[in-house]
Amino acid sequence: MNRELYKPLIFEFSRSGRRGFSLPSNGLEDHKRELPEVLCRQTEALLPEVDEPTVVRHYTNQSTNNFGVDTGFYPLGSCTMKYNPKINEEMAASAVIAGLHPSQPVSTTQGALRIYHTLARYLSEIGGMSEFTLNPYAGAHGELTGLMVIHAYHDSRGDTARDKVIVPDSAHGTNPASAAVAGYKILEVKSLPDGTVDVADLRSKLDDTVAAVMMTNPNTVGMFEKNIPEIAAMVHEAGALLYYDGANLNPMLGVARPGDMGFDVMHINLHKTFSTPHGGGGPGAGPVGVRSGLEEFLPSPRVMMDPDGRFYVDSPGTSLGFVSGWIGNFTVLIRALSYILSLGTDGLMKVGPLATLNANYVMNALSDLYLLPVPGPCKHEFVFDGLRDKSTGVTTFNIAKRLLDYGFHAPTIYFPLLFHESLMIEPTETESVETLDRFIATMRDIAREAAETPEVVRNAPHNTPVRHPDDTEAALHPVVTFMDLKKEES
Ligand SMILES: *Cc1c(COP(=O)(O)O)cnc(C)c1O
Repeated sequence: MNRELYKPLIFEFSRSGRRGFSLPSNGLEDHKRELPEVLCRQTEALLPEVDEPTVVRHYTNQSTNNFGVDTGFYPLGSCTMKYNPKINEEMAASAVIAGLHPSQPVSTTQGALRIYHTLARYLSEIGGMSEFTLNPYAGAHGELTGLMVIHAYHDSRGDTARDKVIVPDSAHGTNPASAAVAGYKILEVKSLPDGTVDVADLRSKLDDTVAAVMMTNPNTVGMFEKNIPEIAAMVHEAGALLYYDGANLNPMLGVARPGDMGFDVMHINLHKTFSTPHGGGGPGAGPVGVRSGLEEFLPSPRVMMDPDGRFYVDSPGTSLGFVSGWIGNFTVLIRALSYILSLGTDGLMKVGPLATLNANYVMNALSDLYLLPVPGPCKHEFVFDGLRDKSTGVTTFNIAKRLLDYGFHAPTIYFPLLFHESLMIEPTETESVETLDRFIATMRDIAREAAETPEVVRNAPHNTPVRHPDDTEAALHPVVTFMDLKKEES
């Protein structure tokens, strides 16, 4: 623990009997409890007893212990940590929407259903798909939903021997995980040295036991897969469907459409491409789009419009059923619609080119010091394989920790698994050239430190409240309460 940076926790100020509020009496204090005795707690709740300023400082200090897009540059590759315009938050916090309940009669929720329906139409247009469900809660959840659609499609044709899904070795870990949860066996297809899928290897694995091929474009190395039309033809020839992991849609937004390339099913990470602050597990939304002919399998409920322009929800018999409580993570949907409407077509079409420009700018400014295993130009992100000079013993892990000392969030590290020292950088389109220059200068400083004073980098971070947690220990035995923390210290 870094004592100078340590901010005391609320329990350390607790004094028995101290109060941070005063409420008028409601006269109910002496009434008999209405709850049955078995449901009542037997011991007092362990709560800190503190004054109001202490409560405010506690939460404010806690919020500054966390790194966010609103506090600094966050080049976390694959995650598209773009700035979330504050107008989105204003829309999502609207009292009209916050007060809605899923069980309200649809005659009273026409506005909310219209938001859903409108966003689904926009996403269909952007993805080149026929229809979208907005119900899944995350990218991985969208993958699972999309694979369940594919399963339902094959089943509906009596084509039940297809028990495999093909996934490239560069894919995000959620791809094979989702396929396994959907009940499929995984076949891995190799990448070529330039990071793109080995089409010959893919061809050799395609047969009538393959249900789907999952692809990410641009892939996780930031390279555009140029052979998609050829791959789509092969996959369809074999009777399988082509799935698009749309977590990397950002550089293609408004420029190219997965539907036009031959993809049958896709998901979009609204919390990446369409803003929404995410990280630490949420919140998110992973809408799933399907080409014409697959709509009937989409999850329930579906939001439909009747000929009079009235909205209703439906659960058709062909639907694969419910994948979420109701119609998804609604406030994330609102942020996405707000983002689309405030940028407009022209604004949306600038996202991809600017994200691509920013990534190439950073890549070119650092590739004399950092090893670039797949030469550019890249799309929205790129991967270094650590420092060029491997003699210093400074690893990607050390570089990531040292960046924290300089106030930058670390890039994604050790992913993709194609390289030993992967350092995956995605600046996004919302960063100014001044911010990028400051990041570049810092990365150059770290490379110099690695050569001159490697121990400074190897022992980083020096300026964070918690310095060197044992990652394994922290995962196996997390200390999540103040009482356990006290025990640890004594
Ligand atoms: C983020 C990401 C996912 C998973 O999305 P979650 O919302 O985190 O479940 C899948 N594929 C790629 C390429 C991603 O970057």
